[in-house]
Amino acid sequence: MNAPTPRIEEKVTPMMAQYLAIKEKAGDALLFYRMGDFYELFFDDAVKAAAALDITLTKRGKHGGEEVPMCGVPWHSHESYLARLIKQGFTVALCEQTEDPAEAKKRGAKAVVRREIVRLITPGTLTEDTLLDATRNNFLGALCVLEEGAALSWADVSTGELYVRATSVDRFLSDLSALGLSELVAPAPEELNDQWAALLNGELGHDITLTLRPRAFFAAKAGERRVKEVFEIAALDGFGAFDAADLGALGGLLAYVELTQVGKAPALRPPVRAEARTVMAIDQATRASLEILKTQTGGHAGSLFAAVNRTVTGPGARMAGARLSAPLVDCDQINARLDAASFFLTHTNSREQLRAILKKTPDMARALSRLSLGRGGPRDLLAIRDGLNAGRLIARAVSDHEAGNANDIDGAMPSEIARALSDLEAKSAGGFSALLQVLEDALVDEAPLLARDGGFVARGYDPGLDAARVLRDESRRHIAGLEATYKDLSGVKSLKVKHNNVLGYFVETPAAHGDKLMSAPLDETFIHRQTLASAVRFTTGDLADLDAKIARAKDESLARELQIFEQISDQIIEASNQIAAAAEAVAMLDVAAASAYLAETENYSRPIIDDSLAFTIEGARHPVVEQAVKRGGGSFVANDCTLAQEGEAHLWLVTGPNMAGKSTFLRQNALVAILAQAGFYVPASKAHIGAADRIFSRVGASDDLARGRSTFMVEMVETAAILNQASARSIVVLDEIGRGTATFDGLSIAWAAVECLHTDKRCRGLFATHYHELTALAETLPRLKNVSMRVREWKKSVVFMHEVREGPADRSYGVAVARLAGLPDKVIKRAGDVLKSLEAQNRDGPGVSALPLFSAAQTDEAQPDPASALEPHPLIEAVAALDPDAMTPREAMDALYQLKLLSKESA
Ligand code: ADP
Repeated sequence: MNAPTPRIEEKVTPMMAQYLAIKEKAGDALLFYRMGDFYELFFDDAVKAAAALDITLTKRGKHGGEEVPMCGVPWHSHESYLARLIKQGFTVALCEQTEDPAEAKKRGAKAVVRREIVRLITPGTLTEDTLLDATRNNFLGALCVLEEGAALSWADVSTGELYVRATSVDRFLSDLSALGLSELVAPAPEELNDQWAALLNGELGHDITLTLRPRAFFAAKAGERRVKEVFEIAALDGFGAFDAADLGALGGLLAYVELTQVGKAPALRPPVRAEARTVMAIDQATRASLEILKTQTGGHAGSLFAAVNRTVTGPGARMAGARLSAPLVDCDQINARLDAASFFLTHTNSREQLRAILKKTPDMARALSRLSLGRGGPRDLLAIRDGLNAGRLIARAVSDHEAGNANDIDGAMPSEIARALSDLEAKSAGGFSALLQVLEDALVDEAPLLARDGGFVARGYDPGLDAARVLRDESRRHIAGLEATYKDLSGVKSLKVKHNNVLGYFVETPAAHGDKLMSAPLDETFIHRQTLASAVRFTTGDLADLDAKIARAKDESLARELQIFEQISDQIIEASNQIAAAAEAVAMLDVAAASAYLAETENYSRPIIDDSLAFTIEGARHPVVEQAVKRGGGSFVANDCTLAQEGEAHLWLVTGPNMAGKSTFLRQNALVAILAQAGFYVPASKAHIGAADRIFSRVGASDDLARGRSTFMVEMVETAAILNQASARSIVVLDEIGRGTATFDGLSIAWAAVECLHTDKRCRGLFATHYHELTALAETLPRLKNVSMRVREWKKSVVFMHEVREGPADRSYGVAVARLAGLPDKVIKRAGDVLKSLEAQNRDGPGVSALPLFSAAQTDEAQPDPASALEPHPLIEAVAALDPDAMTPREAMDALYQLKLLSKESA
């Protein structure tokens, strides 16, 4: 069904004219048009929303001779509908009635109530708890591209964080993936150069909504003006040095926030310039392969974060996630985080007290942000009150305890904790006492969600409000008294005084007594209003008076409560910088205590981090696999790994059959480095790591569930990225590179990659391969070491020991593994015979050592085509192309018949 929204025409009803004018402003966003208790959608919007929400599409009137499609969602539950639309990538324009319908009536009976768009809801600008995940940041990004450079700024409107960083064509995708933006505002690709246009037109990563704006939206001059305006400063110097691209990106971001919030300003904190060099570079493919925050399938469970996060608050979880996705490179900063965690390992008592308080500590950052946007309610005031109070308790629990602890070496408090404690009490700003007093005095504990429901201001806080409430309560008591009076007067025992929204207060008698009250002399007091089947209803002069009094008192007290709400909100917003700092301090303490708790319960240890090129890990485990193996009742086999020590190898070549534990070993070392540099304890008995500038991890394409692109191409593009970007400070983990192509191509590429990492890059690295031939490289490359996964054969079957030992794997266990996988005995036996004969041929024929690559690597001269030099036997090629793990028994059988045919042909 197609129902394009018409343009404004002459002959439309006034309401439709208003709708069309507003719809024009809303553009592509779905327009939620407020009508009483519903948001209504019309035309195409209705068609789209009805389909997306699975709600009924109806019709309303006609427009241009056509029926107008319509659907609606109730106001009181609209957030859940919004959540679903936003998840599906829609943006929504909320259009509210901005005047009292009574006001509109004064302009004439047909006048339409004034309406305006009050907010554009986009994935990157959400603030409602129902639309957000408490444990994750929701970042909006903005990109500015200038001749002289590019910058990316990003903010979490729901918490107030704001950052900017230089970016470039090369690192843009890696920067994006580090941030996990939910929405990016960027210049239209057609206004950019080809490289940028290609990036923006390409795949930006999981779930990013791309919003395009003209390039002028990101102009540097306007950006500078906007930053100064928003943060009310005359000169930018105080915030640090920002270049033109930074200002353009910040300006674009602030402009977009202003646009979506329709003039309301969220409490953003001054921008922080995130220096690219202060965090470890981790590109998108590495993040995906190491499953840092999400698994490859997009799930949360099974990720590194899920395995190591022990925080108990939403803000703490957000900070832990942010730290894991951007590990540091500065040793002092890393050690400061580790010091904080160590503190809570020795001070277990205060840690447990702290965690108990944290569990009840609300999310102040998000409450603060809603209040600044004028979108907060009484419960947000309570969140600030309870958050600040918890902050005080936390400060006491942490600082009191410290003095008496016998484990204290010098009694000094780690700097991160000392700063957090000072922020919790706003020591530099004179403290929260005054604000807390107001919040304590003003609020009741059971507050409604919305201020307009009233009833949240405590008795005794405001004399005017109390007077209005007394009046209301007295009138109610008076009414209750009237019931007895009227019973006496009428002699009707079953008479009752009741209330409903239509009649207000009224007297009700059973139908049988109706006539009595309607006749003299009682009809002087009781005025008939309504006759129902079983009852008759009356009002009286007194009731009407009291009713009016109560209504007035209610209006008065609500108006007063709203006023008080505004006043307190203002006081909170005034202190927003200090409150935000306190909220961050809570998150920081949560992360430090959680890290200590994890270390204690999972037996992690503190890594030594310095500026060396060391990588000495003893007794390391894979954080995720270890927990899974333990859950299954098994035990994880810990392994050591030493790279780059003086005179030793910095590159390990790991061989062993499938399922022996190669990938697990490779990844656990990369994850130990990430955890360590993120400032966490690590799953190892000892770890000494020279801080890495980058970490790369790739999995060979055949292990990767390919997504439509040529897997080999993907693999090579990614390998190229590593070989081009790795430095001596980097850590590189390559798992089965070269699998995505025919054997000899793949082998050659793997071969050349190992040489490049060893001789040119000289970085620390682990390289797992099933190309047994590569193990010969250790003879010519001095800093390459062969290790393999220990495997024992037992009753013709293989047993994986999961233990890393020196030396190459002695043989391929492919056939034995096939037996484990359940291939029929006959097939296994036949495959064993084929293998033997192939091995014999390979020994006698032109083996791998004849590859021209071997000598070419040293001379760097033009190389003859390896394929023509080698001409492998077709049978070898056919067997090598088989992947026993991926075959069904039936396919294996078919393959054997094929081989048989082939052998006949070549004989
Ligand atoms: P490969 O890469 O050699 O094919 P994996 O690393 O995928 O093998 O490991 C296969 C399985 O073996 C894992 O899923 C895990 O259950 C188990 N495993 C791996 N390493 C260990 C270990 N060190 N201790 C215990 N179990 C392990």
